[in-house]
Amino acid sequence: MKQRKIPLRKCVACQEMMPKKELIRIVRTPEDAVLIDLTGKKSGRGAYLCGKVSCFKLAHKNKSLDRALKQHVKPEIYEQLAQDFIKVEDEFLAAKESAADDE
Ligand SMILES: [Zn+2]
Repeated sequence: MKQRKIPLRKCVACQEMMPKKELIRIVRTPEDAVLIDLTGKKSGRGAYLCGKVSCFKLAHKNKSLDRALKQHVKPEIYEQLAQDFIKVEDEFLAAKESAADDE
C-alpha cells in the first residue's frame, strides 16, 4: 500500500508534530483579532494547537501562543478561546472517532 504524505504541523504548546487535521488552528486576522479557525482557511498568521484543552492551557501558561502569533493575546481572548476550545474539543473528538471507524 502506498502511503499518502500527511502534512504535519507543530503544536505550539507541546511542540509535537501532528497531522494538520488533528490540530486546531488559531489565527490572528489582519484586524488583529485572535480566533479559532476551524476551516483552516482564514487569512492571517496561524498557530496550531492539538485539539486538547490541556495544550490550550499550556499555551496560555507559557505564552507560546502569544509568541507564535507575535501578539499579546489578551486575557479576555483566552477566556473566549477556552470556551471555544471546550466546545471544539468535543466535536473534534467525535469527528476523530467517526474517522477511525473507516479504518
Ligand atoms: Zn499539543
